[in-house]
Amino acid sequence: MANKSGIGTTCVQGGYTPGNGEPRQIPIYQSTTFKYVTSSDMGKLFDLEASGYFYTRLQNPTNDYVAAKLTELEGGTAGMLTSSGQAANFFAIFNIAGVGDHVVSTSSIYGGTYNLFAVTMKRMGIDFTFVSPDCTAEELDAAFRPNTKAVFGETIANPALTVLDFDKFASAAHKHGVPLIVDNTFATPVNCRPFEHGADIVTHSTTKYLDGHGVSVGGAIIDSGKFDWTQYPDKFPGLCTPDDSYHGVTYTERFGIEGAFITKATVQLMRDFGAIQSPQHAFYINLGMESLHVRMKRHCDNGLAVAKFLQNHPKVTWVRYPGLPGDDQYELAQKYMPSGTCGVVSFGVKGGRAAAEAFMGKLKLAAIETHVADARTCCLHPASATHRQMNDDELAAAGVSPDLVRFSCGIEDAEDLIADIAQALED
Ligand SMILES: *Cc1c(COP(=O)(O)O)cnc(C)c1O
Repeated sequence: MANKSGIGTTCVQGGYTPGNGEPRQIPIYQSTTFKYVTSSDMGKLFDLEASGYFYTRLQNPTNDYVAAKLTELEGGTAGMLTSSGQAANFFAIFNIAGVGDHVVSTSSIYGGTYNLFAVTMKRMGIDFTFVSPDCTAEELDAAFRPNTKAVFGETIANPALTVLDFDKFASAAHKHGVPLIVDNTFATPVNCRPFEHGADIVTHSTTKYLDGHGVSVGGAIIDSGKFDWTQYPDKFPGLCTPDDSYHGVTYTERFGIEGAFITKATVQLMRDFGAIQSPQHAFYINLGMESLHVRMKRHCDNGLAVAKFLQNHPKVTWVRYPGLPGDDQYELAQKYMPSGTCGVVSFGVKGGRAAAEAFMGKLKLAAIETHVADARTCCLHPASATHRQMNDDELAAAGVSPDLVRFSCGIEDAEDLIADIAQALED
């Protein structure tokens, strides 16, 4: 695929170009293993001296086609699929940080990611400092330590819907010689390409808009190929010094700065942790991506229509939608996502936690689900679901108030979504 194709063309045709007489749609290689004629042919693959497939835990052609499409959409140099968004964020950090290291993250992130960082990775000896998304440059600067290995944020935070100030976070990361890792799940590459704003690594929960139909859990990591690890060999020894588990290969030397990060994450972390995407699920993600550009427009139109309706409703105490003029995230959203943000609207129902839960119980079209960013409208009360492990201070730092309803507009007709909300807000 030519790089200059528009985003919609890449959504439809990127990643896979069939040859003469080959399948038009991406074939599903439903095979755990691949046949070789001689043992020495296979040995070269194990030594990373030749590229090819030998076992689906490491690589599978179906997954690689889909990863290649997402890599083209993000404008990166290499990408990989993972079994979930959780695995993607874990791998992205663990690929460059280990026991004794430190990471700076915004506090406004997905609850599952917060738990991964603050509890599970902390137990693995990695410390995280959480900074407010609207911290000053000085406050951000002060969060770094000599052992800091990365900065993490979400383009549009789930569910707080704050927009990442890319300039502020990218310049702080680069000043301290570490990459900016951005979870681009909510914006998708249709609305924001973080590499154009200074991010170095992008992650996704493909479970959300990329799949878009609620059929398969998955994740992805994409490398921009721009971060020069070799400038900081002491900070990133895993990429810049020989790996004993691969006969002394040095990833940056063998695969260049364009390929080192994803190769290491594939042949080392995927080999050892095995959090793979199944080829069947990769196929579903690809089907979703074929209409991503069409669906995102509709999700955003519906999000804006619902946000405008809620804004004027007497039973609604506050509305947060980064695409809504007047919203305190609007300026940042316009700067980084001028053509749209996402379909998720957060708001508070008058009467707090109990009123929020009562409202949700009355909805007919919008289903209560632990899900978001789906073709079907759904909603969730984060304080009693995804974020229920957090205490009130942590909830406040994550931008989640007890009355917050996360309303994920699908691609139905806006009038029907608004009518459903209106009847559920009636006494
Ligand atoms: C859902 C989500 C995740 C976790 O992804 P899974 O596919 O559920 O593991 C990570 N980040 C964000 C922003 C999400 O919305």
